[in-house]
Amino acid sequence: MSKESAINVDVVIVGAGMVGLTLANLLSKQGKSLAIIDRNIPQEFDTTQPYDARVTAVSPGSQAIFEHVNAWSSMQAKRITPFNRMVVWDAVEDAKINFSASDIQHENLGHIVENLVIQTSLHEALQPQTNINWFVPVVIGNVLTREDHIEVVLDNDQVLTAKLLVGADGRRSSVRKFANINYSEKSYQQQGIVARVQTEHPHEDTAWQRFLSTGPLALLPLNNGECSIVWSVNDEEANELMELGEHEFAQALTKASGLHLGNISLCSKRATFPLVSGQAESMVQPRIALVGDAAHALHPLAGQGANLGFTDAAILAEVLAQTERDIGSVKVLRKYERARVGETQVMQRAMDAFVAAFSSTSTPVITARNYALNAANRIQPIKKYFMKQAMGLSKNRPGFAR
Ligand SMILES: Cc1cc2nc3c(=O)[nH]c(=O)nc-3n(C[C@H](O)[C@H](O)[C@H](O)COP(=O)(O)OP(=O)(O)OC[C@H]3O[C@@H](n4cnc5c(N)ncnc54)[C@H](O)[C@@H]3O)c2cc1C
Repeated sequence: MSKESAINVDVVIVGAGMVGLTLANLLSKQGKSLAIIDRNIPQEFDTTQPYDARVTAVSPGSQAIFEHVNAWSSMQAKRITPFNRMVVWDAVEDAKINFSASDIQHENLGHIVENLVIQTSLHEALQPQTNINWFVPVVIGNVLTREDHIEVVLDNDQVLTAKLLVGADGRRSSVRKFANINYSEKSYQQQGIVARVQTEHPHEDTAWQRFLSTGPLALLPLNNGECSIVWSVNDEEANELMELGEHEFAQALTKASGLHLGNISLCSKRATFPLVSGQAESMVQPRIALVGDAAHALHPLAGQGANLGFTDAAILAEVLAQTERDIGSVKVLRKYERARVGETQVMQRAMDAFVAAFSSTSTPVITARNYALNAANRIQPIKKYFMKQAMGLSKNRPGFAR
């Protein structure tokens, strides 16, 4: 297709996952014209279908972003589960930290929401917008950066021109590759096993997380009484656990949970995800910005990966709304990068430190981490600070998250 028949928009977003769709909603509300590209056709959601094992602990800060784009009411109408307590404990010495929404006079600590519910609700919220061009299932074939615009050539030869191209296309981002932005990825040599389970004792609307030397086990509450698990184990153990029959797997899981919620039985198929920490060397370059996992991937132990991505989307949208300049200019985009790079790096270091501290079997490290957990549990200002950060309620949160 020739450039004359190119479609011209303000912003091309590659990736219609949870983060790309959040950004699309924020930008289309500002009146920007968009092209959204994804290699997959959007999935559908039906409230009678069983709960999906892939869930996100949506922070109150992210909830505010979804409210701003009218997607939260649709998530509520589908299904969401509020949790008002989070208990984190060490399998070796049973040191514990207990976070409660009432500690900070908040209604809840967040909501457990299926990824599919988030994605389909964000998709629905875009339906009334007339300034969006969809290209699915399509991938990009080439990217050409020009002085005053960018050209994106799709694999069906369609050419799109825009002021800005955003890579929201996940960990293996093709936009990042076309932009030649270096990306460093470290494997934890662990897999996250996800599944839905039924516990003998009620989950008490609490997110439970037990740190074992092999990795953390999270049991996240669902409002049908079941829990969604994320069980991080090393690659070898993951393979062994995946080969076990349902009953044997449930027994191993019950043991790993320290019987805290009694016996556990399996309610769904199991799936595994490789656990990595990844960071793009830069989040921007002239006419290109990266958001979400395309820019940074995290260990899921603190449930922060997607929440960081939603904040990326909110800050990028805020920066673009506030400028009178060309939205693809690197001066504008650097404002977004400066606002994001600190938080994502701190979060990544914190995840690395957690994984290292809790996988250690050295007695001084075990003593130190138990001291730290118990101390953090007792010292209210420290505890409240961590809670506000994790809940996306820090003072420097984006305007859309207030
Ligand atoms: C086990 C597990 C549990 C987790 N739990 C939590 C949690 O509780 N809370 C939390 O905040 N985070 C959590 N995370 C992290 C979270 O899932 C990710 O951070 C989040 O999904 C990233 O969203 P994204 O939209 O950036 O990328 P993705 O979800 O990877 O979406 C990328 C999109 O781009 C499309 N795409 C990819 N490549 C191309 C291409 N070449 N061309 C066109 N389209 C393309 C894909 O089809 C997809 O739609 C967890 C992660 C794991 C593995």
